[in-house]
Amino acid sequence: MKIAFFDTKPYDRIWFEPGAKQLDFSIKFHEVKLNEDTAVLAKGCDAVCIFVNDVADKNTIEKLCQLGVRAILLRCAGFNNVDLKAAKGKIHVLRVPSYSPEGVAEYTIALLLTANRKIHRAYTRTRDFNFSIHGLMGVDLHDKTVGVIGTGKIGQMVIDILRGLKMQIIAYDLYPNPNLDVEYVSLPELFKRSDVITLHCPLTKETEYMINRDSIAMMKKGVILINTSRGRLIDTKALIEALDRGKFLGVGLDVYEEEDDFFFEDKSNEIVTNEDLVRLTSYPNVIITSHQGFFTKEAMEAIATVTLENALDLELSRNLQNEVTI
Ligand code: NAD
Repeated sequence: MKIAFFDTKPYDRIWFEPGAKQLDFSIKFHEVKLNEDTAVLAKGCDAVCIFVNDVADKNTIEKLCQLGVRAILLRCAGFNNVDLKAAKGKIHVLRVPSYSPEGVAEYTIALLLTANRKIHRAYTRTRDFNFSIHGLMGVDLHDKTVGVIGTGKIGQMVIDILRGLKMQIIAYDLYPNPNLDVEYVSLPELFKRSDVITLHCPLTKETEYMINRDSIAMMKKGVILINTSRGRLIDTKALIEALDRGKFLGVGLDVYEEEDDFFFEDKSNEIVTNEDLVRLTSYPNVIITSHQGFFTKEAMEAIATVTLENALDLELSRNLQNEVTI
């Protein structure tokens, strides 16, 4: 099997090369992202392997099909970047449904603790021998109410850790889990009652911009918002307006709605002109990281193993257990 990898970084080689060699798969690593223009790089390949910010829209899928590519292997869980309607019946779409939800959950808590206690600012201050703590005050999380939106694999792990912090937990999910010992409430109630809100639902038509002017208006002043899910869950313009009004005690973002052009790349020698991103990074109470919640050794191992197993399922015409369909 020949696979063209898109949007690759040095660490992708480290994790994928040994497994591919064992299976006698041939991999072509491309640094560019998959899109309509770069699809041609998959010529002669059976499958493409893509990540969160590659684009597999209708035109790209058509091009891949013309080249004889049989599958899109997502080396991630989310598939909002693939036009499943266009793929239906033409090209298989396989994903890695779960890779260390513990890692993403732990990272969520790291962002929460950082955004609350301003550890990112303290770090830069003390490196500059500025030992003032003025402006670094947070709140005790103990006994505060946290609203968890999405109680799937990651949301549940987050809840487990939050219990250790002795927080009061409320949750919203389109499909509440009857086996989960948590108080499910409506979304408006969650927005109104929560001191901390953390997002763990997928990006869908229904969840796009679920954090918007109206929902922010319902939130308490001094709320902390954490997003390790997908950037477009938040209307960034509405977030910025609210930040300007001092609505949030802290905001922790591992994802950003226009992250495709920036995240995972070193842009430190360039002038970044994305106004919203520049504005967001300028707030002292906002911490942005570059979609690294998944990035643990265990997750990388799982991603490589399951992605290559998905390719093997295809090659051996086995049941495609991780196929995504509509
Ligand atoms: P999951 O499928 O196990 O859980 C998602 C939950 O969201 C489910 O319980 C589902 O019922 C719920 N849901 C679906 N539609 C909803 C809606 N309209 N409103 C509220 N809830 C809804 O997924 P997961 O593994 O827990 O991952 C959650 C999200 O985390 C993924 O969608 C992905 O976008 C993101 N993620 C981010 C990283 C990272 O590196 N930052 C890594 C992995 C996953």
